[in-house]
Amino acid sequence: MGLMRFLSRLGEGVNNMTTEASMPSSNFIQNIIDEDARTNKHQGRVHTRFPPEPNGYLHIGHAKSICLNFGIAAQNGGLCNLRFDDTNPSKEDVEYVDSIQEDVRWLGFDWQDRMFYASDYFGRLYEYAVLLIRKGKAYVCDLSAQEIRDYRGTLTQPGQESPYRNRSVAENLDLFERMRQGEFPDGSRVLRAKIDMASPNLNMRDPVLYRILRSHHHRTGNQWCIYPMYDYAHPLSDAIEKVTHSICTLEFEDHRPLYDWVLAAVEHEYRPQQIEFARLNLNYTVMSKRKLRELVEQKYVNGWDDPRMPTISGLRRRGYTPEAIRDFCDRIGVAKSNSIVDIALLEHCIREDLNARAMRAMAVLRPLKVVIDNYPEGVTEELAAENNPEKPEMGNRTIPFSRELFIEQEDFCENPPKKFFRLAPGQEVRLKHAYIIKCERVVKDGAGNVVAVHCTYDPDTKSGGAASGKKVKGTLHWVSAAHAVKAEARLYDNLFNVENPDEGEDYKTNLNPNSLDVLQCFVEPGLAAAEPGTRYQFLRQGYFCVDTVDSRPGQLVFNRIVSLRDSWAKAQKS
Ligand code: ATP
Ligand code: MG
Repeated sequence: MGLMRFLSRLGEGVNNMTTEASMPSSNFIQNIIDEDARTNKHQGRVHTRFPPEPNGYLHIGHAKSICLNFGIAAQNGGLCNLRFDDTNPSKEDVEYVDSIQEDVRWLGFDWQDRMFYASDYFGRLYEYAVLLIRKGKAYVCDLSAQEIRDYRGTLTQPGQESPYRNRSVAENLDLFERMRQGEFPDGSRVLRAKIDMASPNLNMRDPVLYRILRSHHHRTGNQWCIYPMYDYAHPLSDAIEKVTHSICTLEFEDHRPLYDWVLAAVEHEYRPQQIEFARLNLNYTVMSKRKLRELVEQKYVNGWDDPRMPTISGLRRRGYTPEAIRDFCDRIGVAKSNSIVDIALLEHCIREDLNARAMRAMAVLRPLKVVIDNYPEGVTEELAAENNPEKPEMGNRTIPFSRELFIEQEDFCENPPKKFFRLAPGQEVRLKHAYIIKCERVVKDGAGNVVAVHCTYDPDTKSGGAASGKKVKGTLHWVSAAHAVKAEARLYDNLFNVENPDEGEDYKTNLNPNSLDVLQCFVEPGLAAAEPGTRYQFLRQGYFCVDTVDSRPGQLVFNRIVSLRDSWAKAQKS
């Protein structure tokens, strides 16, 4: 069984477990919470947090974490905080803080009055560090970063104790205070936990808790020149916020003993429980902020919200709905082992959502002129068209029909292969919502290209009319040449042309040079005033969204969200 088939089966299984939308999804994390409720482990409370580092825009992997943390809280009558993990000032910025809030809100989640910053706790974290020193559980170390690495040992060899490990409490208190006062240069000293240099877990070999770093912080400015490390700040921030279940991704599994050590060492009254789950990976894209930032900064894409990016802002601009993304996160489920999810599942989710609610419209992406020779000149008919066949209550609209039309170039073939049921010399097709036409002759330019197709129509075949019973095999979409509105269509393909761009030397060599195709197209006139953000199904072409950045009246821009061909649904059936 191919990888895709295997993955789709996997999705099927997961999907079957959570078919009832209203039913809380069950997973191993919910099982832990149920068990904790039974044993009254956290006094019956459920309190989670989503802890992004504001060093980039959120991606679809973060959406999984957001849905999980806010979802688990909602499902158990609990609370979920938004906390910026801003302990690394050199890479962080308010631009990211703002975009993260916008994205979480857009996904449909509410942290109410619980938006926090790890930097809010810098004072308290410092006090806890002083406490650790007093208890003989932390010391100031003068080894360089390289020396600390050298002393650390390996998986098979124990580490070596730092010569500074047995400094007195008084000396440590003095040095740590002076580190804070800015007496020492960057990188010259660190504060380390005193744990066990022979621990089989490298994270427990006297990890660094604080470093000296003169860097302007987006919130605390130049108030601090020492900053806490993630492994120290995170458990304490969780405990300060009375978090009960600290859900993170699998790479932190080996850090859990340190997480627990920190809370035990300061004897914190609250002991949140770290639970790890598998991060989301999608094929044909990358999912690390560092790489996404590189794509933005080196202009491989047009910003964080480029519709080809797996960022929330990119998906939003492309036309994805929060409902579809939440549905996707629900279907992939949470597990304990890493896997790669097929991007076709994400596309399937947006198709399902938009099939039910997007307005239908006709747009011709690559126009070919059709002239109906027996249709009177100067006449326009307004034909009725349903807005959404799935939802009659969405009503009808009218579209103009006249003597000259555009159809898709690919819907005409001068020398058609067998079973070509579209337009060809002597062949008949139906024009959607209109008439049956027959191709009589073609007009070519000097180079032999077909530039126009002349047809005749049968006035008795009007859609919905009394004599519309005549059957033809093909139905084409079209627009009236005199009435159609010019627009730009942006068609997107995967950003990378291999399933796993991270395999190999440099992921950037796997960028798909054809990930964006810009076309000058024609849309039906009713779309002339289409509002940015509005989504349509262009018949036979896919779902499109009016671009929220570049589109304006008279210069419409449509992003193709997804084509209509559903490879996910097909894989499920076969
Ligand atoms: P990246 O590696 O992309 O920079 P990160 O883990 O460093 O991601 P954070 O801002 O620290 O980014 O992540 C915030 C939260 O989102 C963390 O709890 C993290 O575990 C979770 N998260 C990040 N990436 C994924 C992913 N691909 N799937 C699920 N959760 C993720
Ligand atoms: Mg991180």
